[in-house]
Amino acid sequence: MSPSIAVVGGGIAGLAAAHALAGTHEVLLFEADERLGGKLRTATFCGRPVDLGPDVFISRDPAATELVQAVGLGDALSTPNEAGALIYARGRPRRLPSGLMLGVPGDLPSLARSGILSPPGLVRAALGLVWPARPVPGAEDLEHDPSVAEALGQLGSEAVGALIDPLLGGINAGDVRRLSLWSTAPALAGMLAGQRTLAGAMRSRRRQAAHATPGAPGSMFLGLASGMSQLVDALATRCAAAGVQLAHTARIDALHHEAGAWRLAGPGTDVRVDGVVLAVPAFATARLLTDVDPELAGWCAQIEYASVITVTLAYPIDAVPAATTRALACGRGDDSPLPGTGMLLPRSTGALCTALTFMSTKWPRSAPPGHVVIRASTGRFGDERSARMSDEELLGAVRDELRRYLRIEQEPTDTIVQRWPQAFPQYGPGTRRRLQRIGERTAELASLQLCGAAFGGIGIPACIRSGNAAAASLEAALGRQAASS
Ligand SMILES: Cc1cc2nc3c(=O)[nH]c(=O)nc-3n(C[C@H](O)[C@H](O)[C@H](O)COP(=O)(O)OP(=O)(O)OC[C@H]3O[C@@H](n4cnc5c(N)ncnc54)[C@H](O)[C@@H]3O)c2cc1C
Repeated sequence: MSPSIAVVGGGIAGLAAAHALAGTHEVLLFEADERLGGKLRTATFCGRPVDLGPDVFISRDPAATELVQAVGLGDALSTPNEAGALIYARGRPRRLPSGLMLGVPGDLPSLARSGILSPPGLVRAALGLVWPARPVPGAEDLEHDPSVAEALGQLGSEAVGALIDPLLGGINAGDVRRLSLWSTAPALAGMLAGQRTLAGAMRSRRRQAAHATPGAPGSMFLGLASGMSQLVDALATRCAAAGVQLAHTARIDALHHEAGAWRLAGPGTDVRVDGVVLAVPAFATARLLTDVDPELAGWCAQIEYASVITVTLAYPIDAVPAATTRALACGRGDDSPLPGTGMLLPRSTGALCTALTFMSTKWPRSAPPGHVVIRASTGRFGDERSARMSDEELLGAVRDELRRYLRIEQEPTDTIVQRWPQAFPQYGPGTRRRLQRIGERTAELASLQLCGAAFGGIGIPACIRSGNAAAASLEAALGRQAASS
């Protein structure tokens, strides 16, 4: 009989691993929650699908698109409205300039026109682009792991605070002063390594981009017609049809290696299997590995997390004053009541919200006729204010900020508060060394593999790749074991 495998965690990484192993092994998937999908969650809001977690994935990394196609959802791939994002800077909403790469300016005239930086801030950023750049260690140098702010600080504190932190820090719910450049933005780090100036790095990036996609830029982001739960449902259906046993409300509390087999136990569960994929957050991985490998558990326990909350609100269109529409349009002709896909609120504003996503503009399918839908994201590493509030207090605070930044005074017609405690692993200082040690220890264990956002990147494609890689490593290890026995 083929070896049996337990996948612990039914987020996108665990589902990808189970899907990769389905059909060739006896696979059991254990998910603590009553639903599969982890952070991928689409709610029906005012009768429409609205994502409460991720709503897009990056298309440059093909892992997500390939999985979507493999489960028969190719036709559901959809492109969000590319109306462009805004940022609140120097007292009002402003359009993000063209040519930005994770906040690093690549088109100075466009940056100047945006008005995001003050004249001295703009001069400082322009000088920082051409000054000799702080040397960025190469990919192989794990001892030196500069933060994003250290590597890009010469652009000036204004550019770091108004552009780089809201964009790159925002994606990670982190603080660029603490995020490892190589682990958080490997493409940017690779571009900077070996370049004498930041301007030179941006030029080489433009050349690479033109070379990679000649004449066919396509959309940078993709989503699904009915939201991300569509992928979760299709994966679950495919896995079940291929014989995977999917157990919901099945938390695993203990893991032991006994007589060459793995024993997993939790409320109502006590099973033995030949191989294990742990696809849970790093703190849960650490707890499960305490007896199995204390050193590996220790490395995992060091990974810190940020909690976030999304608050989704629906309003009648007339709740958005014409003055707000004009301010958001920034002089462009745009007839939607909330022009743009959303607005970032930098740390310097002191706002509870880190971003306001205009869901009804970004995904017109998410709003009923005559309404706008706004999703406010709150919380980031080091800012637990919203996590300490009750839903009622949080709704009140978010409504105050919508009044302040969008001049919306009316009551929302519908709201949903979705809490995501300890959701974003922080790829902080020393991450590269830590991940290397985790990889080495896991390679020794062989029949136990780790995957998910803490170990190979937080984006959906990266999580899928890590799930696929864990499945492949486990399959190879079990094959070696079978051949030697
Ligand atoms: C609000 C928000 C917006 C985001 N936006 C984007 C975006 O637009 N694009 C993008 O690419 N990424 C985005 N991300 C990031 C991305 O969604 C996540 O990094 C990714 O989904 C994590 O997948 P995962 O499988 O590693 O972990 P998870 O989704 O956390 O899944 C882990 C699963 O393990 C289960 N579990 C934990 N402990 C146990 C146990 N002991 N036994 C059994 N099960 C257990 C949990 O219940 C959970 O279901 C966003 C994340 C959030 C929170």
